[in-house]
Amino acid sequence: MTSARFLVVLDADSTLIRNEVIELLAEEAGRRDEVQAATEAAMRGEVDFATSLRSRVAALTGVPTASFERVRSRIEPTPGVRELTAAVHERGGVVGVVSGGFHEILDAIAPELGVDRWRANRLEVAEDALTGRVDGAIVDGAAKAASLREWAADLGIAPRATIAIGDGANDLPMMAAAGLGLAFNAKPAVRAAASLVVGRVDLSQAIPLLP
Ligand SMILES: [Mg+2]
Repeated sequence: MTSARFLVVLDADSTLIRNEVIELLAEEAGRRDEVQAATEAAMRGEVDFATSLRSRVAALTGVPTASFERVRSRIEPTPGVRELTAAVHERGGVVGVVSGGFHEILDAIAPELGVDRWRANRLEVAEDALTGRVDGAIVDGAAKAASLREWAADLGIAPRATIAIGDGANDLPMMAAAGLGLAFNAKPAVRAAASLVVGRVDLSQAIPLLP
């Protein structure tokens, strides 16, 4: 892939897909309400993302890996996502996703939706169940921005030829690093900081913005 013209990087939860995967996993542990409240606070930018993620993942302790399939079956792609990824490819672009969510779910979803490369957190597993710990470095806001820069450099794409699309406070660093930062279905703090705001929950709305 030496001739990519531009790069579009999307957030996963509530952007690429309608769900927050950690809430679906928490439901498997009978702890959806508390995890949902903590996720919403993190997405509004009220708490440190990595600290919040560690405590939310701790609430998933004991969830069997067998439940991943049920969680995957509940994922709803965001309207317009396939149209957007097809349009990016038609115009010679590359689609990336960088997520504070989890490879365990995203790996099954991303390729089907036309995503070319993706990065997320990994859940530590022992004896076919979650240990309640994140495996490896946490993908937080800074890691999202670093991924966008790294992928652009790798593809020979200038930073100005990148678009970042997200809804949460942890997307703000990558939106600032991109040529265009698009707030999608976004929290107020994210709307306020974005170059552009898309209010309708339809990713095809971003197609006219592609170079
Ligand atoms: Mg999100």
